[in-house]
Amino acid sequence: MASELLGTKYEAVIGLEVHAQLLTKSKIFCGDSTEFGLPPNTNISPLSLGHPGTLPVLNKEVVEYSICMGLATNCSIRPISLFARKHYFYPDLPKGYQISQFDEPICYDGYVEIELDTKGDGSKTQRIGITRIHIEEDAGKSIHDLDIDTLVDLNRAGVALIEIVSEPDIRTAQEAVAYLTQIRQTLLYLGICDGNMEEGSFRCDANVSIRPIGQKEFGTKAEVKNMNSFRNVEKAIEHEIERQIGIVESGGAVVQETRGWDAGSQTTKPQRSKEQAHDYRYFPEPDLPPIRVPQVWLDEIRSRLPELGLQRKRRFVRDFGLPGYDAGILTQEQSLAQYFEDASAALSEKTTDRYKLVSNWIMTDVMRILSEKKITANELTLPPAYIAEMADLLASEMISSKIAKEIFPEVLEGKSPKKVVEERGLMQVSDNSFIIEIVEALLSENPDEVGRYREGKKSLMGFFVGQALKNTQGKANPKIVTKLLQERLDA
Ligand code: ADP
Ligand code: MG
Repeated sequence: MASELLGTKYEAVIGLEVHAQLLTKSKIFCGDSTEFGLPPNTNISPLSLGHPGTLPVLNKEVVEYSICMGLATNCSIRPISLFARKHYFYPDLPKGYQISQFDEPICYDGYVEIELDTKGDGSKTQRIGITRIHIEEDAGKSIHDLDIDTLVDLNRAGVALIEIVSEPDIRTAQEAVAYLTQIRQTLLYLGICDGNMEEGSFRCDANVSIRPIGQKEFGTKAEVKNMNSFRNVEKAIEHEIERQIGIVESGGAVVQETRGWDAGSQTTKPQRSKEQAHDYRYFPEPDLPPIRVPQVWLDEIRSRLPELGLQRKRRFVRDFGLPGYDAGILTQEQSLAQYFEDASAALSEKTTDRYKLVSNWIMTDVMRILSEKKITANELTLPPAYIAEMADLLASEMISSKIAKEIFPEVLEGKSPKKVVEERGLMQVSDNSFIIEIVEALLSENPDEVGRYREGKKSLMGFFVGQALKNTQGKANPKIVTKLLQERLDA
C-alpha cells in the first residue's frame, strides 16, 4: 500500500498559500462596506462593478494590517512595493483583472515557529519559512445554483486580502495543520481577520509533491484547492500524497495541475492542468502609486504589536508554572487567555497550585459552556473572580472537591461561590470535636467492620471515610476524618 511507503521510501513536500480577508470596514479601493451576509449585490458601487472611468484609492488600513502580519511572521517589509494587474476572465471579476502584487510584495522572507509535540510543551519547534505576503483584492462569488444560469454576487469583489505564501518546508499533513493553526491564531491575535474558514474569510490552497527519501530535488507538485476546514486540509493532503505515491509506484509521473478536494468522495479531482494554466500577463498597475512605508510608520506599527499566541503560551508556562499543554489550550484564543489571567489575578494567594486549579476549571467547565453557548470568554457572564474564589475555597480546604462540583451550577447562574457555600452551610468542617462525634458514632454502629479492620482488612478504611463523609453531607474535612479514624482503629 502507498501509505506504508510514506516515511520509508518517500517523503512529502508541502507549501501552503493562505488567503486571509482583512477586517477593514470598507473595501480595499473604495468605500463599499465589507459586511458579510447581506443580500447579493448590495455592497457595490461603480468601482466594485469595474465601470470605466473609476479610479482606485488605497485603503491605508489594509497596508497597516499587512505590515502587522509581516512583522508578526518575522518578515522584512519593503519600503516601496508595487501593485500589479493579474489578468483572467471570469464573471465574478468585472474588470477582467485582479489588482494584486507580483514582483515586489510588501512583506518577504519571514518564518513562523510551529510546535510539533503532542504534549505541546514546546520541546520540538520547527521553523516554516514565509516566502512572501502580498496585498490583493478579492473577487466576487459565482453561484451555480441553477441548471443553466450562473448568478454573480459582487458584495465580496474588492474586499481586501492578504496572501501568505509559505516555503515548501512542510513535510506532513499534521505539520500543515500546525502551521495553519499558527497563522490563523496570529491573524486573530492581531485582530486583522476573523479566521472563519466556513465563510471563506480564511482559505488555504495546498501545494503537494513527493520525492524519494534522500533526493534533493523536488518532485512535480499538484495544487489542491477547495478545503473549508482544517480537518479537510489534513485529509486532502493525506489523500494527495497517497495518490502521487500510487502513480509513481506504478511507473507513472505526477502531472502539474490544480486539483479540487471533493469532500463527498474524500478524493481530489483534476481542475486544470499546466497546459490550461493561466498566463496572467502581469503588468504594473498604472492607476495606483507605489505603496510607501516610511521607517517612522513601520516603527510605530511595530510598537503597537500585541503579545502573540506563542509568546503568551511561553509566558504562561514561565510565570504561572502551568504545563505546556494547559498553556497551549488557554492561549489558543485571546479572550480565553485574558480570562485565565483575570481569574489568576483575583486569587487570594498566588501559588502554582492555585493557578493550576484555575486552569483546570477553565479547561473543563468554562470551555464546555463556551462551546455549548458558542460564545467567547469575553461574552461569559461568569466573572473570572468567581473561578478564583472556587480555587481559593478548594485550596484552603474550605470546601471539598465534591462540594465544589456540586455548587458550580449555581455559580454559573451568577452566584458567588462563597455566598452559595455560606447560604447552604456547605463549609467544610475541620472542627475536631464535631468530627470525633461522627467518627465515634460510626465505629459503634459498625462493630463487625471494626473487628475485620483490626484483623487486618485495612482496605475498610475507605468504607469508614466514605460513611463519615456521607453522614456529614460531604462537609467533613476528609484528611481530618482519616486521621481521627486511624487514631481510633489502629490504637
Ligand atoms: P507557482 O509558480 O506554481 O505558483 P510557486 O513557486 O510560486 O509556484 O509556489 C507556490 C507554492 O507552492 C509555495 O507555497 C511553494 O512553497 C509551493 N511549492 C513550490 N514547489 C513545490 C513542490 N515541488 N512541492 C510542493 N510545494 C511546492
Ligand atoms: Mg505562485
